[in-house]
Amino acid sequence: MEDINKFLRELPKTELHLHIEGTLEPEMMMSLADRNHVRLPWTTLEDTNSAYKFENLQSFLDIYYQGITVLHTEEDFFDLTFAYLQRAASDSVRHTEIFFDPQSHTERGIPYEVVVDGIHAALMDGEKYLGISSELILCFLRHLPPTSALNTLETALAYKNGIIGVGLDSSELSFPPINFLEVFEKARSIGLRTVAHAGEEGPPEYIWEALDILKVDRIDHGVRCLEDPLLVEKLRLSQTPLTVCPLSNIKLKVFSSMSQHNILKLSEAGLCITINSDDPAYFDGYINDNYAAVYQAFNLSISDLLLYAKQSIQASFASESRKTALLAEINQLIV
Ligand SMILES: [Zn+2]
Repeated sequence: MEDINKFLRELPKTELHLHIEGTLEPEMMMSLADRNHVRLPWTTLEDTNSAYKFENLQSFLDIYYQGITVLHTEEDFFDLTFAYLQRAASDSVRHTEIFFDPQSHTERGIPYEVVVDGIHAALMDGEKYLGISSELILCFLRHLPPTSALNTLETALAYKNGIIGVGLDSSELSFPPINFLEVFEKARSIGLRTVAHAGEEGPPEYIWEALDILKVDRIDHGVRCLEDPLLVEKLRLSQTPLTVCPLSNIKLKVFSSMSQHNILKLSEAGLCITINSDDPAYFDGYINDNYAAVYQAFNLSISDLLLYAKQSIQASFASESRKTALLAEINQLIV
C-alpha cells in the first residue's frame, strides 16, 4: 500500500467535485469560531470530531450548515480555500474546479463579494505558489426556491470575479433538477458551463432531467444510472463525465462498503468516470484517499489509476493547452 500511496502522490490529476465548505476541518472550525466569536454547540475538539459522525445525507447537511456559520470574513474564505489547495497540492492535484454555495452565506448576511473575493484570492495564490490551476463553480442550493437561485445568478453576474459555471447541490430527494430549468437556461445562454448533482440518493429520472432538461456538461455522482440500461447507453455514447466520490458514498451509506460500490461496473460499462473527494473534511479522506480506497477494494492495476487520472483531465473545463500539458505529465510518468 505504501508503494501505491507514493505513486498517487506523484500522479497528476484534477479534482472536479469538491465543495469548498466541505473542506472545513474541525480544527479550523474551532479556530474560526474563536476568531469570529461564534458559539458552536461543541466546546472541545473531541466533541467537534464526534459531531462529524452522521447517518445519511440529511444528517450530514445538518452539521455541514452548522459548521459554515463560522465563516464570516474574506480572510476566513481565503484561509479555508488555501488550506484545501495546500492539501490538494500534496496529492498532485494540478487543476481543481471548486464548488461554492453562496446562498449558505448570503442568507446569513455575508455579502456575495466577501465570499467570492476570499476564495478567488486563494485560487490566485494557489496558481502562483502551488502551480494549481482552478475554476470556480457556483452551486445553487436545491432545497431553496428557484427564485433564490435566479437572484443569486444575477448577483454573481454583476460581480467582477468570474465563475466558469453553475451547479446544483444540497438535499437531492424531492428537489428534482427540472425545478431549476429557468436558471440553468439563463446560465447556458451567457456561456456558463453547467453541472448538477443527480442520482446519488435521487432516482435515475433525476439524471435524465439533468441531461435532457438542464443540458449539463457533467453529472455529479450519477451512480444510480446503472439502474437504467437506456440511461447507461446514453451516458456511454455522449461520454458525459460522472464525478464519482467513493468515500462520500460509503460515509453517506449510498453503498454499504467499498467492495459494494459500483465504480468498477460504471467503468466497465464504458462511461467517463472520475474520482473525487466531495466534502473531504467530513468524509474521511482527500482525493488520493479516494483513489487508494478504490484501488484496494477492487485490486486495480496502475493502468486503471492512470485512466482515472487521464479522464479527470479530459472531463475538466481547463483549456485545451492545459489539458495537453497535464496529459503529457502523465505520459512522462509512465516512461
Ligand atoms: Zn457533492
